[in-house]
Amino acid sequence: MILKLIIFAVAGYFIYKFFGGKLPTIGGKSQSEKKLDEDTLVECEKCSTYVTVKESILIHGKYYCDECADK
Ligand SMILES: [Zn+2]
Repeated sequence: MILKLIIFAVAGYFIYKFFGGKLPTIGGKSQSEKKLDEDTLVECEKCSTYVTVKESILIHGKYYCDECADK
């Protein structure tokens, strides 16, 4: 009974190591969704200045720079 648990734990550990310490994602969808990270440049809808996603403000699905969003 206990031996079964140990074998199961060891097998689980090797499967975990096999995937590089990461649990396999179903369909690998989570990576493609993370395409637009905070360092990606986006164009301001109003003044066409390129700002990073981190610095931009998203209004109604469109990106605006700090200045345009204030107005
Ligand atoms: Zn702007």
